[in-house]
Amino acid sequence: MTAGPESSRTGGKTAASTASTSSTASAASTAGAVAGSIASHCAGSSAEVAAIEDRWQLPTYAKMPIALVRGEGSYVWDAEGRRYLDLYGGHCVALAGHCHPRLVSAIREQAGRLLFYSNVVYSDVRALAAERVAGLAPAGLQKVFFCNSGTEANETALKLARKHTGRKHVISMADGFHGRTLGSLGATGLSKYRDPLYPVPVEHTYVPYGDLDALAATMDKDIAAVMLEAIPSMGGIRVASDNYYQGMRRLCDRHGALLIFDEVQSGFGRTGTLFFGEQVGVRPDLITGAKGVAGGVPAGVVFVREDIAARVQHGDQGTTFGGGPLASVAMATVADIIRDERLPQNAAATGAFLAEHAGAIRGVRSVTGRGLLLGINLDCPAKDVVTGLRGHGILAGTCEGDKNQIRLLPPLTLAPGELGPFFTALATLLA
Ligand code: PLP
Repeated sequence: MTAGPESSRTGGKTAASTASTSSTASAASTAGAVAGSIASHCAGSSAEVAAIEDRWQLPTYAKMPIALVRGEGSYVWDAEGRRYLDLYGGHCVALAGHCHPRLVSAIREQAGRLLFYSNVVYSDVRALAAERVAGLAPAGLQKVFFCNSGTEANETALKLARKHTGRKHVISMADGFHGRTLGSLGATGLSKYRDPLYPVPVEHTYVPYGDLDALAATMDKDIAAVMLEAIPSMGGIRVASDNYYQGMRRLCDRHGALLIFDEVQSGFGRTGTLFFGEQVGVRPDLITGAKGVAGGVPAGVVFVREDIAARVQHGDQGTTFGGGPLASVAMATVADIIRDERLPQNAAATGAFLAEHAGAIRGVRSVTGRGLLLGINLDCPAKDVVTGLRGHGILAGTCEGDKNQIRLLPPLTLAPGELGPFFTALATLLA
């Protein structure tokens, strides 16, 4: 592998010349030839791959020093052929496991049928995705807007809330995270992401998660929406009482504000039910989702209360790529996998097993969260332990709001039997 423009130029030339023969060759053999040429240009060690990425990419991420080349189920492999148990789930994205065969085959088929056309036309697969994905939503919220990411879903929800209420002000949580575009960043209380890029905008107020009195003291007739991660993640995974969520619902109703649950991480079965509100008896007015909704193809979705949706007009929101054919076929397939493979039930059962066994390890203070959105709370900083886990072939995350917490966001297909090496490694590292 060469670290310079030659490698990409040669790759482009090979792909182009292969494509020029495609009119005579069969689609299958052309696809094989292109895939072959890409793979040969990508061959290289983790260190070589890292050197090239670091040479050409903006250094916006502190990356793990591994280059992943393959995935299957709960596992990924690096360029050296080393296998890792992926308890980080590709950043909470590999909901149905890595490279689920149904998803791979649906994406392959659609790529050869119609790769893209935008929302200015109808699409058979967008229709299928809308029906299947809306079918997962709580009753009364079965109207969807498709977009490309979590931050775009949150921008859309904020825009809809402001339009519906005719108000501007939004209350969100002091250590919440909602994305990196300006509206979502405004709702993001975690200061590391907001300051100094974006001074606190006047129309946003932050209150501590779990504090109903603080929320009540801030609510008034100018509030358009209360927005929060259904279960906080980046700020530290923990779950407030049912009473907190129910009280928040009542406060929103009393003041005519909308309640927005950001379920970008927690949605689609991760917490043990399709959406979290079900567990606390609360139906929000808008739910946002992304991450695993298309199993790895970029996609986001907003579930909208039907009477709010009824007032949306042409031009109120838009996106070129949202709901494109490839994302749609992926969303429809993931929705089917969630139902057919009972992923929420599996998340609940495997999550309970994980929490019980990890909680019994010396040095683990507690395990917080629901289903397979779990925080392992340690007596010591989590960063070195997470690095140590990687040495044992296990990927896990840390979190911004609580330096002693290991964050686990594995595929919802994870089986209890796959967790043995994690328990052993954690016990060894904490001993
Ligand atoms: N909301 C939550 C709860 C998230 O965790 C994230 C991303 O990590 C986002 C929103 C933003 O999603 P995206 O990175 O797809 O824009």
